[in-house]
Amino acid sequence: MNTVRYDLVVIGSGAGGGTMAHALSETPARILLIERGDFVPREAENWDPAAVWKHRRYRITERWLDEKGREFQPYTHYCVGGNTKFWGSVMYRLRPEDFQAVEHADGVSPAWPIDYATLEPYYDRAERLFHVRGQHGVDPTEAPRGPYPYPPVPHADGMARIVEQLRVLGLHPSPLPLGLLKPGEENGCILCNTCNSFPCRVESKSDAEVCCVRHAIAHPNVTLWTNALAQRLLTAPGGRRVEAVEVERDGETVRVEAPLFIVSCGAVNSAALLLRSASAAHPDGLANSSGLVGRRYMAHLATMMQGFHPLRPNTTVFQKTVAINDYYLRGPDTPYPLGQIQSQGRTHGVMAQTVVPSIPLWAYEAWVARGVDWLAISEDLPRLENRVTVEPDGRIRLQYRPNNTGPHEQLVTEMKRILRRLGFWLVVAHSHKEKNTTHQCGTLCFGTDPRASVLDPYCRAHDVDNLFVVDASFFPSSAAVNPGLTIAAQALRVADHIRSSHLD
Ligand SMILES: Cc1cc2nc3c(=O)[nH]c(=O)nc-3n(C[C@H](O)[C@H](O)[C@H](O)COP(=O)(O)OP(=O)(O)OC[C@H]3O[C@@H](n4cnc5c(N)ncnc54)[C@H](O)[C@@H]3O)c2cc1C
Ligand code: SF4
Repeated sequence: MNTVRYDLVVIGSGAGGGTMAHALSETPARILLIERGDFVPREAENWDPAAVWKHRRYRITERWLDEKGREFQPYTHYCVGGNTKFWGSVMYRLRPEDFQAVEHADGVSPAWPIDYATLEPYYDRAERLFHVRGQHGVDPTEAPRGPYPYPPVPHADGMARIVEQLRVLGLHPSPLPLGLLKPGEENGCILCNTCNSFPCRVESKSDAEVCCVRHAIAHPNVTLWTNALAQRLLTAPGGRRVEAVEVERDGETVRVEAPLFIVSCGAVNSAALLLRSASAAHPDGLANSSGLVGRRYMAHLATMMQGFHPLRPNTTVFQKTVAINDYYLRGPDTPYPLGQIQSQGRTHGVMAQTVVPSIPLWAYEAWVARGVDWLAISEDLPRLENRVTVEPDGRIRLQYRPNNTGPHEQLVTEMKRILRRLGFWLVVAHSHKEKNTTHQCGTLCFGTDPRASVLDPYCRAHDVDNLFVVDASFFPSSAAVNPGLTIAAQALRVADHIRSSHLD
């Protein structure tokens, strides 16, 4: 077997791994970034709803098993930049309350081992790195913070009218924080209607490839391997240190040795990698003395909603600029949190047709042309039985039952009521339910107690001295805002720690 040696290995190039590679690229360390996917090509299909939604051109072809052992195609992507290539680029900070224990209708959302103030400077840096645009001082649940690095994307006329109507109803709509490069400017984002779930054809979305990986690999000390699958981490005798990772590349297995390993494969695949790395020293999976590797999987409860009016064509192209956080901490008729509502990118007929394929496309096109799209997100609570495991044949199994569903239904009901009061005749709602793996998190949670967490507060494995995990796995709770900015902020914090503790 071929053996190579680096000073540091980062596995996975998405929100966590891409940010980490960028943050350490200016150190003298020889860094290898290992990515199982390839670059997403720049091509006409990037913005073709049929290619993206009907033919699933960029999704993984791998099948996972659900809790009953049935195969499904998860909604996730393997490529340079990871899922950020396809994200909606909504880049939220958690609320200060999200770092504390919060009582929900269905149980307690546990506290994080760090507080908002600890992450705040890294949120500032992550927002600059990902060019986040927003307006502070408007959102009633916002954490203490200074101005955003860039001004918010202005509402299109149709959305500005809706914002005014929402205010008349007594709500507090705020601009959605978005990571976009130079919107409306020359060679910048053209504010199109194929952003969320599509890769950006003009490379103006703030994704981990554009904002991080490209800059990292411009440094001579950083090497990127694409189409390279990390199969197993191997520990030295005693099990306290990883000494190598076995990588499948170009049809052969390469052994990569290093004094430091950073796993960033996404919450499902990072847990699977650790479980596949079981050995005599770690019989239940690497770093699994707590028994928590793969457990506490969370994914958000998310419902797409569309307000429809037959006589009101929706001419807005870019409508994803509005957030309603009034029910984030408590609902109108309950002391418990309900979640967040965001306006969404435009639905295309082909996307809607994937739900009920028997209805003709022209009918869907006519429908979506008169609809305004929204997304309701509620917090998913960690449950031990919601977990990732690996089958004897190596396949991933995801056992997941959503919880906290009552508050989510209340949020959807409340939003339906709001949309009707705005004059929409009909509101339709659809959820991918447990098959939605887009906001996966929590499978290797961080904490101070090695019996109750897998990682320490700097995301280092309690059981293994030179193994860090920076991706969505570390979340002890899922909160109810999009996870990307928090993943990037924690990656920057861990990078600072690694610089001072391991690289200086
Ligand atoms: C359609 C869509 C829209 C979204 N919208 C938003 C949004 O607006 N805002 C937001 O905050 N979040 C959004 N998300 C979620 C966000 O993209 C993820 O939370 C984030 O990318 C997770 O970061 P990560 O580092 O954990 O994993 P990823 O970004 O998924 O990166 C993991 C990387 O590891 C690679 N990998 C996996 N296994 C291996 C292996 N064994 N060897 C080598 N490489 C491996 C993968 O190919 C991938 O590149 C969205 C997701 C999707 C799919
Ligand atoms: S041009 Fe702007 S709105 Fe369109 S995909 Fe790119 S970043 Fe998104």
